Amino acid sequence: KEVLIQVKNLKKYFKVGRNSMLKAVDDVSFNIYKGETLGLVGESGCGKTTCGKTVMGLYEATGGEVVYDGVDIHSFNHREKKEFTKKAQIIFQDPYSSLNPRMTVGAIIGEGIDIHDLYKGKEREEKIFELLETVGLNKEHASRFPHEFSGGQRQRIGIARALAIEPEFIVCDEPISALDVSIQAQVVNLLIELQKTRGLTYLFIAHDLSMIKHISDRVGVMYLGSLVEFATSGSLYKNPLHPYTQALLSAIPIPDPNEEKEKKRIPIDGEIPSPINPLPGCRFASRCKYAMEICNKEMPSLVEVYNQHFVACHMVKKS
Ligand code: SF4
Repeated sequence: KEVLIQVKNLKKYFKVGRNSMLKAVDDVSFNIYKGETLGLVGESGCGKTTCGKTVMGLYEATGGEVVYDGVDIHSFNHREKKEFTKKAQIIFQDPYSSLNPRMTVGAIIGEGIDIHDLYKGKEREEKIFELLETVGLNKEHASRFPHEFSGGQRQRIGIARALAIEPEFIVCDEPISALDVSIQAQVVNLLIELQKTRGLTYLFIAHDLSMIKHISDRVGVMYLGSLVEFATSGSLYKNPLHPYTQALLSAIPIPDPNEEKEKKRIPIDGEIPSPINPLPGCRFASRCKYAMEICNKEMPSLVEVYNQHFVACHMVKKS
């Protein structure tokens, strides 16, 4: 498999007040392969969106590297940065606020085409119509405004906008969280279809494991700025090793009532602690029912337990 992006020891800290530091992303490393969907999951405040935005170059990293096609994106000059924005796009969570209400749908989709000077005149217009059709809308929609559309349709417009400049990598930042459950599957299916036909690579961010189950090839679970587990989807859903992943998975309702009997919801007590000046040791220790003495002293590192399944937990032994 060919690596498209290498995230190496990535850190993104924000200064809070005079002496405090919010460690939103703290030493996170992973690869993204060409043509795959990497899911990144965790509760709000775990750093997944900051991680996605730093990978996109929308935030300057505090430390570490994001290597795209062999080059660290934070070393790009102005021209290279513009080139990169043509390759990498982002779809935002909220289709209500991410589209300019004063622009027509055609103008919204055409913006990127104009910035990168891709098409002009009739060709530009045809490209916009084609994109609308690709996402399940039609050319009549080009002259209308975002408020005339439903949430699912607006997210389709957001997808068309991202596709307009023919990117190869898209960060999908919780693109279905704000939508009705009945619409979520349609948008996920559209993204899967587009990936197949256009060879796209996705970083798909979600706050719950059920949302990324059908789209991710591999999944990273984040907790308070760190990756606590990272595995192929098959391995993670079948055999979650970190207590936090186990709790997240147990919260997914199972449609089959026969399986329900065997599945018990594992509660996670308390709120996610503040990422400002975190305590030493395992970040999950304050909510973990298995916490031992060492957990409060030493931060467990992410180690491969077996065949591409990585976990950061003192309790899990390498087999
Ligand atoms: Fe729980 Fe300790 Fe494992 Fe952290 S390292 S998840 S506190 S058992």
